[in-house]
Amino acid sequence: MKTLKKSLAMASLLICMTSSAFAYVGNSNSFKSHTEGCRFERKIRNDHRVYFKTKNEALHAGYVPCKVCRP
Ligand SMILES: [Zn+2]
Repeated sequence: MKTLKKSLAMASLLICMTSSAFAYVGNSNSFKSHTEGCRFERKIRNDHRVYFKTKNEALHAGYVPCKVCRP
């Protein structure tokens, strides 16, 4: 049981780490921001990708939230 508890703690730590990473991706070509995993986010070319940690960060940079994924 001890090992199970440990692995659960590890899993929640991983989730925590993932959510604190860059969750928003902006398209410097269209000036739209997406949540990671949006089907439009995947289409953004690598040289047009801008990463944001928060929604506000993207808004302040002048990016409009995507209407599909609603970041
Ligand atoms: Zn989107």
